[in-house]
Amino acid sequence: MTIRLASDLSTDSIVDGPGIRTVIWTQGCAHNCPGCHNPGTHSMSRGVVVDVEEIKDVLDEIEGQDGITFSGGDPLYQIDPVIELAKYIKSTKKMNIWVYSGFTYEEIISMPRGKELLETVDCLVDGKFMMERRSLDLLFRGSDNQRVIDTRQSLKKGKVVLIEKYMKKKDITPLYKKDEDIFV
Ligand code: SF4
Repeated sequence: MTIRLASDLSTDSIVDGPGIRTVIWTQGCAHNCPGCHNPGTHSMSRGVVVDVEEIKDVLDEIEGQDGITFSGGDPLYQIDPVIELAKYIKSTKKMNIWVYSGFTYEEIISMPRGKELLETVDCLVDGKFMMERRSLDLLFRGSDNQRVIDTRQSLKKGKVVLIEKYMKKKDITPLYKKDEDIFV
């Protein structure tokens, strides 16, 4: 089985979920969100096609990471290899897995194998990026329509369960209160 990637895996990310994470950048996305920060990942024919066994070998070598994130592009266009890799990660590394998608939870759960994907991962950040709802104060998401979803709890309860602590705005503690405080 193969997967089309936009680039090599990157390690030590601190913006694609909590902790220090390795990101798997899938290639291909048809959502066309205006203002997308990653337009080079949209083409379904660009990037590189890699055997998932090669990615498993790379994952075996990584150390010092708290979790794995599938981003892109939209990983849901390649649900079969994403499930294959997510199951491998769970069986070997026992790390938490986050998935970013322009599809909503409700759309994903009705896709072929959508429920299986949601059962395999821990968190879904769902929905298209909306420029008019963009905010720099958000944790792990670009616009406030997007939801940070606890996939296991959502499946258990039969409705979307948010991870509230990650839906809050960033706790930005001012380094100084007044201009004159900068130099004291
Ligand atoms: S879903 Fe993500 S990658 Fe796709 S167009 Fe929207 S912001 Fe860009």
